[in-house]
Amino acid sequence: MGKANRASCNSSQSFKETMDSETCHLIRPTAQNKTELEQLCRRPLTARLSLATPVGRVLLEACPVGLHSLTMTDPESRRPCMRLKPGQLASRSAPAVAIADDQPNATLTGPARLALAWLAAYFAANSTTPLPPQPTLCATAAAPPGSFRRRVWRALASSVPPGAVVSYQQLAAMSGAGPGAARAVGSAMRANPVPLLVPCHRVVRSDGSAGRFAGGKADATKRWLLEHERVGFNCR
Ligand SMILES: [Zn+2]
Repeated sequence: MGKANRASCNSSQSFKETMDSETCHLIRPTAQNKTELEQLCRRPLTARLSLATPVGRVLLEACPVGLHSLTMTDPESRRPCMRLKPGQLASRSAPAVAIADDQPNATLTGPARLALAWLAAYFAANSTTPLPPQPTLCATAAAPPGSFRRRVWRALASSVPPGAVVSYQQLAAMSGAGPGAARAVGSAMRANPVPLLVPCHRVVRSDGSAGRFAGGKADATKRWLLEHERVGFNCR
């Protein structure tokens, strides 16, 4: 079982990384992936909300059973975090996450409410306050039981906390596979429907550099998230 490294505090890596850093989709599921997801849950969505967050608009989708997806929808150049220093949020009195202004009558219940509370706490990062429980994920967001993808997501979410990072090969080992599965780990990251909750931004290059994010479309956002966690979660 591999161990996650503390982000930036300890960038040494014991595995030789061969994969050139592709992380989760962040922008939108691919058409094929979207179809796979829709086949897993036929319940009507009870929440489809645009949230204003430090990483720009995040589209939240949930059914009564659980969260379906979180999708960052703003181009990186328009994301508010590009104008904020990580750590600034911790001292702000205004909520770090809110329902966007153009949905004044939106209401949140069940998994969507929990997701909003978790995101607000995450972006308000205060190391003295533990993050609240994560929302239940619908089967669409959990991957088939027993699948490699599910093991990867679970290992990442449960064993790589804020302020830590892991390489593709380390995560492959933590998921019960050999280093040769690093590429499959990359594929699992690209298919991740709930970034931040399943923290694909914490999967970095073996040399400790952040590497690419969303196919290179959100590299600065990834670096911002890692720095936000280093500052806000008091990594030493
Ligand atoms: Zn569902």
